[in-house]
Amino acid sequence: MNMMNSSVLVLNRSFVPIHVTSLRRAFSLVYRGAARVVNPQYETFDFEAWVREAGQSGQEVVGTPRGEVPMPCVILLRSFNRIPRRHLRYSRHNVFERDRYTCQYCGNEAPRAQLNLDHVVPRSLGGRTCWENVVCSCIECNRRKGGRTPEQARLRLLRQPTRPRWSPWANLSGHNVRYKEWGPFLSVIDSGRRAPSVEA
Ligand SMILES: [Zn+2]
Repeated sequence: MNMMNSSVLVLNRSFVPIHVTSLRRAFSLVYRGAARVVNPQYETFDFEAWVREAGQSGQEVVGTPRGEVPMPCVILLRSFNRIPRRHLRYSRHNVFERDRYTCQYCGNEAPRAQLNLDHVVPRSLGGRTCWENVVCSCIECNRRKGGRTPEQARLRLLRQPTRPRWSPWANLSGHNVRYKEWGPFLSVIDSGRRAPSVEA
């Protein structure tokens, strides 16, 4: 794997995780002074200070034009305090992920190639393409349902589709997730998620 593509967790100024980025982009942000590296002791470092850390900690290092530098796992933005996005963007991929590649009618789990996305209320009847009206379906159930509602086709949804809550894991496919190093920072979000929700 190219180390420069490994993932770095991005915190806003309040230490709330908002994003995951590549090591290359993280270095660029830190080098420009737009972010600081955070170590597991919650100490923060600008680029020069982080370079001086090399050799002191037993961390993995990465080769840069400045020599070997410890690999940052977490960075903290300095300039603005963006509110983390609490909602997940609708996309085909994200619907498959939400439904865990499981047909929402018969409960069969299957590889993506054997699954469709189904409009619960068909488009021909005015059904929209959105989190609340699209589910993962196996090809067989999709065919049985045809252009009908579940009631008309005598199919029952396993659960009502809803927009998933935002989570830092949401857009991580393809990223190299570093659970151990990120854990202390992500717990901020986990505790938030236990709060009562009135989401419909
Ligand atoms: Zn099915």
